[in-house]
Amino acid sequence: MNIAHWLDRTARVAGDSPALLSGAEVDADYTRFHARAAGLAGALVAQGVAPGDRIAVFARNCTDYLVALFGIWTAGAVAVPINAKLHPREAAFILNDSGATRAFTSAELTGPLSAETALPLTPLHSEAFAALTAVSPAPVADRRAGDLAWLFYTSGTTGKPKGVQITHGMLAATSACYPLDVDPVTSHDAALYAAPMSHGAGLYAPIHVRMGARHLVPPSGGFDAAEVLALSQAHGPTSMFMAPTMVRRLTDAAKARGCSGEGIRTIVYGGGPMYRADIEEAVALFGPKFVQIYGQGECPMAITALGRADVADRSHPDWRARLASVGRAQSLVEVAIGDHGGQPLPPGEIGEIMVRGAPVMPGYWQNPDATAKTLKDGWLMTGDMGHLDADGYLTLADRSKDVIISGGTNIYPREVEEVLLTHPSVHEVSVVGRPSAEWGEDIVAFVVMAPGHTLDPAALEAHLLTELARFKRPKAYVALPELPRNNYGKILKTDLRKMLHMADPSGG
Ligand code: AMP
Repeated sequence: MNIAHWLDRTARVAGDSPALLSGAEVDADYTRFHARAAGLAGALVAQGVAPGDRIAVFARNCTDYLVALFGIWTAGAVAVPINAKLHPREAAFILNDSGATRAFTSAELTGPLSAETALPLTPLHSEAFAALTAVSPAPVADRRAGDLAWLFYTSGTTGKPKGVQITHGMLAATSACYPLDVDPVTSHDAALYAAPMSHGAGLYAPIHVRMGARHLVPPSGGFDAAEVLALSQAHGPTSMFMAPTMVRRLTDAAKARGCSGEGIRTIVYGGGPMYRADIEEAVALFGPKFVQIYGQGECPMAITALGRADVADRSHPDWRARLASVGRAQSLVEVAIGDHGGQPLPPGEIGEIMVRGAPVMPGYWQNPDATAKTLKDGWLMTGDMGHLDADGYLTLADRSKDVIISGGTNIYPREVEEVLLTHPSVHEVSVVGRPSAEWGEDIVAFVVMAPGHTLDPAALEAHLLTELARFKRPKAYVALPELPRNNYGKILKTDLRKMLHMADPSGG
């Protein structure tokens, strides 16, 4: 089934209901939303777009983003949403790798991206985009559960982003898990897009379309805690996805304003580890409004969930342990812990987290090697380590990959290392995460200088910013005479992290 059918069906029965809101402005009811998406599909088909063709969206959050997604799906094409914070050169890599034939962009990103690609770019919220959506509508294209809907680019440990293939069936499965495991949705609710639509927040759009809820997009197009509080108060009940650092910032903003999140119904948090003190403080201020999810692009949003009662019920004897967990398997997956050979381990033992079920990807886009390493005997090997307790609660122990999660965004050290290594003053480099109360983790680069050079952090930063997004730049640089290595010559990142811990045992 094509996920775009959900918009078509909601428009038939609840066409007058407000659908797309940019702050207080209602941009479209469901009849208009559907007409614009179907019109866009008509334009794409008329221009030769065929089912399975890839179309990128490199944009900040806005109401037209949702029109673009549903228009692309209605045409049977595949959306390639790209994080708007990426460097245009990184975005161009994704355009190229996915074989996208065109892209929709934010107006301010069109110029920088056009310097990196010759593909046709159409800004959202422009006359050109409005003209496309006004074309005679196309019907929903015939798509099956196994057909591709979304290419979700996640960086690999090799440093090159990989495209997770998200099918229409996976989107339906992830969506079905939302009311089953996370939170029921009604037409009175508003999905508030506080986090990027290119990631979790966008993946939650289809279920809110299916239920005829409002889609409330903050006019800032990004995350502004004061704006989220004000919009929720005026247009609640709101539900939203947030990375742990956003929850921290929302708590601080609410405290500063003496409010307690009036209008907010649910905050779904995940994407990175949440400090226990932060969630306890948030629940004390806002009440039992929090649900945690654990997922990864390869099984989007749908591995485990920790319900609002588990988060908030202090009277339960296991409350603290459960709060430190990521909850229990969501309804459409099995979760197991495997040893080195992938054999299931008993409760309590730490091993690699393995998942199988309807929301799990069929593989990476045109990358059979990476797929073979990640999907084994029908299980998704998540690369995350953890253990299950006797009641099925999963606690993450560590990440087997060395991914750094800063502000809820994954940063792959190798990517940063590769760019730093191209600077003439750098002989060797290793990048690790340092615990940070504000960001979850900060990036620290350990550098062995080339002979005759001294460490110049400003020069390294300037060099890095010619290739990578700002959020990937290290917060600190440390010069070392040599990097610690094991007997096989592999750099011991654990030793580097220990050095940071010894320098600041409080962890930030
Ligand atoms: P991504 O594929 O970008 O969504 O990143 C997924 C990774 O983020 C997972 O493999 C975990 O390492 C981490 N992650 C996701 N959710 C949580 C959570 N609730 N708690 C801790 N880490 C998480």
